[in-house]
Amino acid sequence: MARYTDAACRLCRRESQKLFLKGERCYSTKCALERRNYPPGQHGQGRKKVSDYGLQLREKQKAKRFYGLLEKQFRNTFDKAAKRKGITGENLLVMLETRLDNTVFRMGFASSRKEARQLVNHGHFMVDGKKVDIPSYEIRPGQTVAVKKKSHSSPKFKEIKEFQITAPAWISVDIDKLEGQVLSLPTREEIDTPIAEHLIVELYSK
Ligand code: SF4
Repeated sequence: MARYTDAACRLCRRESQKLFLKGERCYSTKCALERRNYPPGQHGQGRKKVSDYGLQLREKQKAKRFYGLLEKQFRNTFDKAAKRKGITGENLLVMLETRLDNTVFRMGFASSRKEARQLVNHGHFMVDGKKVDIPSYEIRPGQTVAVKKKSHSSPKFKEIKEFQITAPAWISVDIDKLEGQVLSLPTREEIDTPIAEHLIVELYSK
């Protein structure tokens, strides 16, 4: 599957916002945005005016990069969100939040969404007792996500048990058992990703 392989920090600098793509480094003074808070490239410090279209495009790019999706996957998710009942922009954010990789990240079993995707791909997680290695798998309320018993002894998951995890209200986590449950779909207020979803809807409605 195609994936972005260039420097992750360039993406944050392009969006002028922390996208938290590199785990612990993002919370330290080593964060590239702390030192060079302007877009990358030769003209990075020269860009000033942004059109309405530019704003909409940037918002879509930011959302894609936050959740680690490529254009086609993101567009497919948007199209599904538009077909569901309710507000398209909110549906989109809920669908992105309830992806298995994001849920794993929200449960605190990975330090970034990128790492969560990799751990899911490597088959470390079970959903309701069955192995699921598809990062885009949509978790429904009531479903349980657990680290596979075999993986409990890996240094990665041993380390996690030592951290204090603050999961959002729509998720409950039992860190000793290395499992969590999605209690309900997140409401818009419970999604703290700084995205103005109406701009994405406007962009794709053109
Ligand atoms: Fe973004 Fe993290 Fe790099 Fe900072 S360290 S620029 S938040 S990926």
